[in-house]
Amino acid sequence: MISGVRILLLGKQGAGKGTQAVRVAAHYGIPHISTGDMFRTAVAAGTEFGRKAEAFMEAGDLVPDDIVIGVVRDRLADCDVQAGFVLDGFPRTRAQAEALEQVLDPFGIDAVIDLEIPADIVLGRLSGRRACVECGANYHIDAPPKESWLCDVCGGKVVQRTDDTPESILHRLELYESETHPLVDFYTDRGVLLVVEADGSVDEIFKRIVDAISSTREPLGT
Ligand code: AMP
Repeated sequence: MISGVRILLLGKQGAGKGTQAVRVAAHYGIPHISTGDMFRTAVAAGTEFGRKAEAFMEAGDLVPDDIVIGVVRDRLADCDVQAGFVLDGFPRTRAQAEALEQVLDPFGIDAVIDLEIPADIVLGRLSGRRACVECGANYHIDAPPKESWLCDVCGGKVVQRTDDTPESILHRLELYESETHPLVDFYTDRGVLLVVEADGSVDEIFKRIVDAISSTREPLGT
């Protein structure tokens, strides 16, 4: 069923998963699947699923596993993921990781990139983060779009995410430690974890990711 390059990005909020996922997806010519973007689109469209997810997202809580797993399972059944995909923001719990294994059986994941970054750096990144309401592209108050808060990619409005409040940021980082960080061991045990230092420029980190993937699977995706 799924037979291409399957990459997953792990890392604290603010580690740069979204930014790097877009680049990695373009590099390998595969879709970028971000559960956060899918949920924000559903909230903006006012779908039933969006209404279910909204309160959890605003509070910085995780959307319940059964809802998230259903959405990702449906997405992974689409034709365009047969050549592989980059998952960004999923899985975030052990139950989600186990469900993903079932969906991908017998192929599994090719590489799990763990973007490592100290907490004080992500706090600065998240509090200054701004995002496009249309396409989700990320900016920072120190690296704004070229035209006054209009997205360079699609021209949409660039604003602060409603879940980037100080309380929500701290809560999400705590949840990352308790729920998501244990997946580092989960994927180490499966022999697919690649640790990448996520401090540096976007270009430097991207090169580290591609080098890490190439060093383990040569040539990946063939
Ligand atoms: P993100 O853009 O990845 O930071 O996700 C934004 C929000 O969407 C998170 O704070 C959660 O409320 C929700 N969310 C995204 N992905 C997941 C997931 N895999 N499991 C549970 N909740 C999620």
